[in-house]
Amino acid sequence: MEIKKIGVIGAGQMGNGIAHVLAIAGYDVVLNDVSQDQLDAALDLIGANLDRQVAREKITQEVRDNAIARIKPSLEIAEVGRTDLVIEAATEREDVKVKIFASLLPHLLPHTILTSNTSSISITRLASGTDRPEKFMGFHFMNPVPIMQLVELIRGIATDEQTYKACLGVVDALGKTAASAEDFPAFIVNRILMPMINEAVYTLYEGVGSVASIDSSLKLGANHPMGPLELADFIGLDTCLAIMNVLHEGLADTKYRPCPLLTKYVEAGWLGRKTQRGFYDYRGETPVPTR
Ligand code: NAD
Repeated sequence: MEIKKIGVIGAGQMGNGIAHVLAIAGYDVVLNDVSQDQLDAALDLIGANLDRQVAREKITQEVRDNAIARIKPSLEIAEVGRTDLVIEAATEREDVKVKIFASLLPHLLPHTILTSNTSSISITRLASGTDRPEKFMGFHFMNPVPIMQLVELIRGIATDEQTYKACLGVVDALGKTAASAEDFPAFIVNRILMPMINEAVYTLYEGVGSVASIDSSLKLGANHPMGPLELADFIGLDTCLAIMNVLHEGLADTKYRPCPLLTKYVEAGWLGRKTQRGFYDYRGETPVPTR
């Protein structure tokens, strides 16, 4: 099955990166959000990121101009339905995603494949609320999308081989590498990564180390390119908390209980880079630890 036109739902951190790489690869993209401001900001950011790639001679000016012309921002969910593949990348809340898929169903073409970029929510459960569980799967990009090589492809219980192959074809066309994961909470990358981040927050909460000492310990002591708290800010603390809750509930094991300090930061609206404050304060020239 040939995929030409792709709908991306959610123009946040992930949605804008996904639209960016799809457009460079030659796909027509409908980028949807509930907020016009988010759509405007996403288009500006994609333009700036493409400009940077031109300046670094990674792409030509022509590729840049063609890519931006292929992205159509839209507040209308009906427009997203008239595509070959939908990648849902809205807020990591099951109620939000369930509503999105329900509102999309009346507008879908018979062959449209539905996917979610969810970091942790059950693909099988999301699929079961649609009219096409066999054409539904997880399409999980890593952040930042233009840079990270991996895409996890997650088959739900009902996903058929044709759907998997069509999604694999898109991953190949993007020049990325797919990892096949089974549909259990948080799949592979976040099943391993999030408990580490959560443990780093416990280490801070219990006073074992400061933000700076925890991050430099993992960078210099375990050769990680970013410290776990810096990485948490980058991902978004609300997303980290949501994933820990899914692991905790889905695997029913207390070893996944979210750290109360992580909850506290989210309650404060200190969600990391996207709100300018998290474990670091990003409002000045250089990030300053908040604890
Ligand atoms: P974000 O908060 O930056 O963006 C979410 C966007 O969804 C916002 O623009 C919001 O306006 C929009 N939205 C909310 N409700 C909507 C609706 N009903 N219809 C259309 N748009 C709607 O979040 P994000 O970090 O981009 O995460 C998006 C998804 O990607 C989540 O499922 C998350 O788990 C997943 N993900 C995130 C990361 C990461 O590092 N942040 C990595 C991989 C996957």
